[in-house]
Amino acid sequence: MTHRDAAFETRAIHAGYTPDPTTGAVIPPIHATSTYKQDGVGGLRSGYEYSRSANPTRTALEGALAAVEEGSDGFAFASGLAAEDTVLRALCGPGDHVVIPDDAYGGTFRLFDKVAARWGLAHTPAPVDDVDAIAAAIRPGETTMVWVETPTNPMLTIGDIAAIAEVAHAAGALLVVDNTFASPYLQRPLALGADVVVHSTTKYIGGHSDVVGGAVVVNDAAIAEPIRFHQNAMGAVAGPFDCFLTHRGLKTLAVRMDRHCDNAEKVVDFLNGHDAVAQVIHPSLPDHPGHQVAARQMRRFGGIVSFRVAGGEQAALAVCERTEVFTLAESLGGIESLIEHPGRMTHASVAGTDLEVPADLIRLSVGIENADDLIADLAQALGR
Ligand SMILES: *Cc1c(COP(=O)(O)O)cnc(C)c1O
Repeated sequence: MTHRDAAFETRAIHAGYTPDPTTGAVIPPIHATSTYKQDGVGGLRSGYEYSRSANPTRTALEGALAAVEEGSDGFAFASGLAAEDTVLRALCGPGDHVVIPDDAYGGTFRLFDKVAARWGLAHTPAPVDDVDAIAAAIRPGETTMVWVETPTNPMLTIGDIAAIAEVAHAAGALLVVDNTFASPYLQRPLALGADVVVHSTTKYIGGHSDVVGGAVVVNDAAIAEPIRFHQNAMGAVAGPFDCFLTHRGLKTLAVRMDRHCDNAEKVVDFLNGHDAVAQVIHPSLPDHPGHQVAARQMRRFGGIVSFRVAGGEQAALAVCERTEVFTLAESLGGIESLIEHPGRMTHASVAGTDLEVPADLIRLSVGIENADDLIADLAQALGR
């Protein structure tokens, strides 16, 4: 059995690395080296020449990333945004047009709006849950890429990856899916027709809130080639220490995600019955508009839960300040539970735009602590 045929959990633990032939090290060592001795000019050992181009700790992580996303090639970057920037420069050029989510991750929107636009890359926002609107936003002959997140942040809107891939491909455009919120354990966009997957590995893949990183995975040599060239030419690579931490996180992704999902479902149940809660937003709920699509394309519904409180913005802010187990902080996807007020925190920069989020909205990144402790904490924070 090759690692490629093995189940997800096995691939996450074994793919990308075989115990070191010299020492037998079971885990990829941190190769803290910038350069490699050559056996005569051009006599590279295993292809290693300089650590921007390749480093064995990074190679191991990149192999594992490709395996868990069911792709041919994985690439590790210094951050999610560095990964995204490299995708744009590798696969788009001045005069091209990209359709992006109308509620894209703020940093992604800023990259398109404030950085890529200056270099002549145009973009049109469209809702990820409306395939017709995405099709209408495509400019025939100009649109080279459709960019999707699913679930989105913080409203957890679901895009139908297979259906969007069809409209993108019909127009000759590539489909890029930011798979950060689902993680490869819950959703594999390449198998659903996407051409490129990007991740902020800072979130679920790293999983311990101790490292910032990004990833790109593709399943086509013709797409991998320009990504590999730009990864080296632009140089926003992940260093060996970061690769070690990210790879260590990836090995436990499956067990962590199952617990994140278990706990999120229990938190959803609790919030759904609470007087101080006006609306719970989670794709597991049958009345969530994306429930059917999510049930089809995701293994489970994820660890992020958003909800609106009955008492308006002040009440939402007060809840965020009262929790004791849930830490008030930005980011998501770590083992510890986090709470935040998107309107004042992660999404403050989109106030007054179409991307504005409700002022009474709270976002939870449900961690893997004991669910009863999480619910007791929310009960005391909501109850007073
Ligand atoms: C955090 C995040 C990013 C950006 O990743 P960084 O690692 O912070 O650069 C991109 N997309 C999504 C969905 C994210 O949550």
